[in-house]
Amino acid sequence: MTKAHILNTYARFDITLTHGEGCLVYDDQEKEYIDFVSGVAVNCLGHSHPAIAKVLEEQSRKLLHVSNLYWNEKQMALAEQLCSLSDMSGAFFCNSGTEAVEAALKFARKHGKVKGGEEKCGIVYMDNSFHGRTLGALSVTGQKKYQKDYTPLLPGVQSAIFNDAESLKQVVNENTCAVIVEPVQGEGGVVNADPAFLQEARALCDRYDALLIFDEVQCGVGRLGSVFAYQRFGVKPDIVCLAKGLGGGFPIGAAVAGAKAAEVISYGDHGSTFGGNLLACSVALVVLEELLQKGVLDNVNAMNLYFAGKLESLKSKHAASVVSIQGMGLLLGLRLSVDPKAFINQCIEKGLLLVGAGTDVVRLLPPLNIEPQYIDKAVQIMDEVLEALA
Ligand SMILES: *Cc1c(COP(=O)(O)O)cnc(C)c1O
Repeated sequence: MTKAHILNTYARFDITLTHGEGCLVYDDQEKEYIDFVSGVAVNCLGHSHPAIAKVLEEQSRKLLHVSNLYWNEKQMALAEQLCSLSDMSGAFFCNSGTEAVEAALKFARKHGKVKGGEEKCGIVYMDNSFHGRTLGALSVTGQKKYQKDYTPLLPGVQSAIFNDAESLKQVVNENTCAVIVEPVQGEGGVVNADPAFLQEARALCDRYDALLIFDEVQCGVGRLGSVFAYQRFGVKPDIVCLAKGLGGGFPIGAAVAGAKAAEVISYGDHGSTFGGNLLACSVALVVLEELLQKGVLDNVNAMNLYFAGKLESLKSKHAASVVSIQGMGLLLGLRLSVDPKAFINQCIEKGLLLVGAGTDVVRLLPPLNIEPQYIDKAVQIMDEVLEALA
């Protein structure tokens, strides 16, 4: 097997993973790892989950795909459930996070034109945000390293400082059609939004009839201990973007829209060939069932307390190396003063998969059904590595 024909878009760890079960994965040398990356918040039920395997097999024997020229029952059921859980009006299905963001941006532009004419097209995004790699989503991703080689980007976009209400007030006006924000910035360093900041964003969007878009691609679908991340902040957006965890490892994205956005959307406004196919929606329905009926959401809240307590002890023990504990639910992070790359590499060496965020944060993203014994093991490995790096 050769690596030569994969384009160089990723700096990969030199590991080839072949199988897994629960929070454990194995490479082609049969080395075992505890997986606290979960495919970057995707494998929310761990690997080889029996309910996912079962639904994939059953659905694949009936219909995989029919296109959106026709109705399909699984898509209707998933949309109905997402809307009833959020009191939203309708869902648009796609295949990834960046596509969910693209859909939200297009819906907001449409809403702006219908309500305020050609001029009402401005989109406000946050510094240090991450919304995806396609050109629209990239245009509202507040990190120069991702944008620099792809200019010119989308016109009409402007940034504000995350968690700084004054800076938001300066850029939102009658020509704004959308404000897009992550309730917890994932890629940018696991930084929680201040609820007061989100409230201010909500108030500004109401004042200027702009749509508030929450990108919950990473922090949604149970990651924070509620189905939708916004439910932890008491601020409701007009559109919520989902992907990553929604399919538990199967690609699916969704833009779930409230009444304001839904009423301006009509035939032909947007589309996706694969979006909402039967296989993807069947798996997503299983994920929601596990979260709500099989106790996985409760587990997130219990394991947050357990894990956060262990991390506090780790921080006290290694006060010179651990600067802070970041995040909420099971989207946690350690801000380090030692080299995060060395920390991650040594953890991997000892059988714990971790991934960085921002410049100095290590993300901790176990599957949502993680058991305490694996948190213990992970913390023990991190303890040893911090000892070695001190
Ligand atoms: C990962 C991520 C995206 C992009 O998702 P893709 O599926 O990689 O396109 C968008 N927004 C946030 C917050 C993310 O974490």
